[in-house]
Amino acid sequence: MVKESILKTGGTSKKPAAAKPKKKKLYTVIFFNKWCKSCGLCSALCPKKIIKSDELGFPAIENMDRCSGCRFCEIHCPDFSITIKERHPRRRRTNGKH
Ligand code: SF4
Ligand code: SF4
Repeated sequence: MVKESILKTGGTSKKPAAAKPKKKKLYTVIFFNKWCKSCGLCSALCPKKIIKSDELGFPAIENMDRCSGCRFCEIHCPDFSITIKERHPRRRRTNGKH
């Protein structure tokens, strides 16, 4: 009886469920321009090269969706004026562009 129930329920014969494709994580880069001294370090260190300077010399993100979340800019900013946050895909921030 016990053996039967094991045979009915148990099983190594089940096929593993197909793995879902991983969704790309998205990040938001926030600059505190009051603390920024426009040194350009973040722009030089960003491996994705998405940090550009605006007309006043402050950093600005060109394409937020390309940010890998490596936090290189946040860690190396001498004025602690960058924060990286993970964001939900439904709340995509397009840096002012739609
Ligand atoms: S590294 Fe920091 S202080 Fe330098 S430009 Fe970037 S945000 Fe400004
Ligand atoms: S977290 Fe990395 S990829 Fe994103 S803006 Fe900063 S340095 Fe560039």
